[in-house]
Amino acid sequence: MTNPTPHRLVPGQPVDLGSLPTAGEGDRKAFETELDSLRDQLAEWQTALYAEGRRSLLVVFQAMDAGGKDGTIRKVFRGINPQGTRVASFKNPSELERQHDFLWRIHKQVPASGMISIFNRSHYEDVLVVRVDRIVPESTWRPRFEQINNFEAQLAASGTTILKFFLHISPEEQAERFRDRLRKPEKNWKFSRGDLDKRRQWYDYQQAFQEMLEKCTTEIAPWHVIPADRKWYRNTVIARTIVSTLEAINPQYPTTDEDFTGITIADSIEGGSTDPRRDGG
Ligand code: ATP
Ligand code: MG
Repeated sequence: MTNPTPHRLVPGQPVDLGSLPTAGEGDRKAFETELDSLRDQLAEWQTALYAEGRRSLLVVFQAMDAGGKDGTIRKVFRGINPQGTRVASFKNPSELERQHDFLWRIHKQVPASGMISIFNRSHYEDVLVVRVDRIVPESTWRPRFEQINNFEAQLAASGTTILKFFLHISPEEQAERFRDRLRKPEKNWKFSRGDLDKRRQWYDYQQAFQEMLEKCTTEIAPWHVIPADRKWYRNTVIARTIVSTLEAINPQYPTTDEDFTGITIADSIEGGSTDPRRDGG
């Protein structure tokens, strides 16, 4: 059987992002066929998680611009019951959010029992953009690695399983995606000039990502570095990881001790209210 988590980092191990692949290998057709089946499995597990209503799943995505966060969410979670899922996108913090600790807005979006929450960007922005752009001093952001680990440990202790995916793309692939966004009118909206400023800071970001991956990979909330240049590879390995995680959670449909034998249900309404159509009301 395929190892569902070959890209999972090991706690305490150094990470060298530059040596980790950005392009996954495989047979595209086979990966795409597998994704269809994984989506069905994901939908079934999600229904059970929701019905059980005791545990929850948090899936975090981080990447450089055009790294594929939106596309992954669209492709992997297509077809699952919207009632049991929520996507939270974290942008530049609002005035109100800035008046609180960095985890305040995050905590409000973590999954309730039975739910899957998907984070498009996350609390990790507070050790990434905030670090690279020097929005706060190092004495503020550095302790956040530990604060984040404690926060995630607390979520895990209350029944939330946490999966974190870093979508790892090459600078060449990002350039290609930006050019595509400029070339196609229907993709123009995805491009902003600020994306180019961030591209210039590529290696500062890689360094910030690398340290985040090292410091915040824990047993209960591991990071996965997903080779993300090829979308079909990215989508399938992420779906595999999520499905195998749900398999391990193994949510169960609730059972009841009540005895329902002998209950019969007639087509017509018996007793109680009267039908106004029949009684001329
Ligand atoms: P796309 O990838 O499709 O462009 P996006 O997630 O980049 O979507 P944008 O509105 O373009 O969405 O960007 C959101 C911006 O908010 C990012 O530049 C991100 O770094 C920034 N941001 C998120 N969280 C924080 C934070 N805590 N502090 C400062 N900036 C943040
Ligand atoms: Mg953007």
